Amino acid sequence: MNITLPEAPSLPVVDEQGAAAGSFPVGRIFCVGRNYGDHAREMGHDPDLEPPFFFSKFASSLSLGPDHALPAFSEDVHHEVELVLALGSRLENATEAEALGAVVAAGVALDLTARDRQAEAKAAGRPWLVAKGFDGAAPCGVLKAGGVPPLSARIALTVNGNLRQEGALDQMLWPPGPLLAKLSALFVLQPGDLIFTGTPAGVGPLRAGDRIEGRIDGLPPLLGVIV
Ligand code: MN
Repeated sequence: MNITLPEAPSLPVVDEQGAAAGSFPVGRIFCVGRNYGDHAREMGHDPDLEPPFFFSKFASSLSLGPDHALPAFSEDVHHEVELVLALGSRLENATEAEALGAVVAAGVALDLTARDRQAEAKAAGRPWLVAKGFDGAAPCGVLKAGGVPPLSARIALTVNGNLRQEGALDQMLWPPGPLLAKLSALFVLQPGDLIFTGTPAGVGPLRAGDRIEGRIDGLPPLLGVIV
């Protein structure tokens, strides 16, 4: 057999000054659920009782925009604006310091979620694969080279100019160091892994034509249109 794998999708990277600084090839996408207390509460959970839990998307879920397509099988796709971390080295049972040292870039992304399909999956005790892993389920902005941004940074999403989500990275229940350390005890993490770190409160539906603007202080914004 002679089969050629599709080329790995890659995200553009800029340096501190905003100049092009190569690209980051994406291997896998890991996500953490309910990592901000106010979002856990809006989804009906007590954040104090929960250790971190993880799910995944595919590299093929990435959407580089500027158009981000909704899936045909859902009537209720929600935005979740998130800090994403890009790993440049291998992590296995890492300490928090080792984990933070492996982060080579960061950016702003949406963890798009087909909430109707997710609710069905939850009720049936089934995986979230379709709800979270569909093609285009991970709109992602340009990455900025460097480590984890300061946790005092504000994270926000506007839709058509209206503020929908707002918080600060220091509201994470599991901040990047402990989060990546925990994840590296479950999976051997690899260069090319992208980690979605959870969303603050205010999630809600997107419609075709919506203009999205995701921002985290100090990082390139995620700008685009939902189609
Ligand atoms: Mn999320």
